[in-house]
Amino acid sequence: MKLMAQLQLLPSQEHAHALEETLQVANRACNFLSQVAWDHQVFNKRDLQTQVYSDLRTQFGISAQVAIRCIAKVCDAYRTAFELHRQRVQETHWANEQRAGQGQDLLPLPEMKVCQFRSTGSIAYDDRILTYQEDQVSIWTVEGRIKVALVLGEHQKQLFQSRQGESDLVFHKDKWFLLATCHQDTPLPEEPQGIIGVDMGLENLATTSDGKNYCGDKIKALRKKLKEHRRRLQKRGTKSAKRRLKQLSKRQERFTLNTNHCIAKEIVRDAKASHKALSLEDLTGIRKRTGLNREMRWLLGNWAFAQLRAYIEYKSRLAGVWVFHVDPKNTSRACSRCGHCAKANRKKTHFKCLECGFEDDADANASRNIALRAAVNRPIVSTFAG
Ligand SMILES: [Zn+2]
Repeated sequence: MKLMAQLQLLPSQEHAHALEETLQVANRACNFLSQVAWDHQVFNKRDLQTQVYSDLRTQFGISAQVAIRCIAKVCDAYRTAFELHRQRVQETHWANEQRAGQGQDLLPLPEMKVCQFRSTGSIAYDDRILTYQEDQVSIWTVEGRIKVALVLGEHQKQLFQSRQGESDLVFHKDKWFLLATCHQDTPLPEEPQGIIGVDMGLENLATTSDGKNYCGDKIKALRKKLKEHRRRLQKRGTKSAKRRLKQLSKRQERFTLNTNHCIAKEIVRDAKASHKALSLEDLTGIRKRTGLNREMRWLLGNWAFAQLRAYIEYKSRLAGVWVFHVDPKNTSRACSRCGHCAKANRKKTHFKCLECGFEDDADANASRNIALRAAVNRPIVSTFAG
């Protein structure tokens, strides 16, 4: 599977200056190219290259490879911009249909503009202008080739042996990085010695059948706090309020991402350590099903929830842990001890079987059902059924 390796560079002050100068020249070249592309309405790499290649090299003094990368960057940027523009036009048309029906003034159609590049935006390097050596890189700059030290952890060193293709030179918050695409062979999963069921939900982000529970209180508290804050800002509607709103949603996103990352890591680590497989509810095709409860509908539309699932699956693959997907029907209504299934078995967060009297937390019961279903579908001994 493909992974992104991020390596920090430790340039001297002089070398940092050369790197910065290089990004600036390259982005100036991109802005020049962008204007030419726009003026002539030429947005494909080959045509743009025939038109500007020699100008580009003499005017900006960049190497042939860097020139090619700049042309590619500009054409890619326009492809994305055109796609976005098409979407905006479509949305405006829809909005205007509605407004016309209600006798309101129509919105003007959005205009496409020439693409502009940040002066220190990243640029891509291929093997001809960037060579990796032990713990340093030799990299082309407008002031000649320089050698810069790399920060390489053990994990990155290993990952790095499978580097493929280009690396991006990135300047972020006064630090220098190379981002490289690597290919990691994933270990073949071993035959599991049992199964851990994972139930995901609103109250508890994740509950596992081996008794762990990751509650969503912190995420919920932050969401609530930000929601109120957001309402106040929206009322104000000023430019600075809008900027602040953007920051807020970014902060919430970062927090959720980090939480999901930690939960997934721990769940997969536990499974690996106990040589067990993981079992998750299979949510493909579930949208079409009728009779979904409110919680299920909410979960399906929630990106944070989708992200946690994706992290668990991805980290499992990396660690060589099996993941099974089971039918999610009635996992929260059925008794994990006797199998009796009734809506009345579950009262909010508590489960009590009306048949055999078994009692437990509702999510814990569900997680055991999820584990059981995977065990039933695979002929292996389960070590968890109570
Ligand atoms: Zn029961």
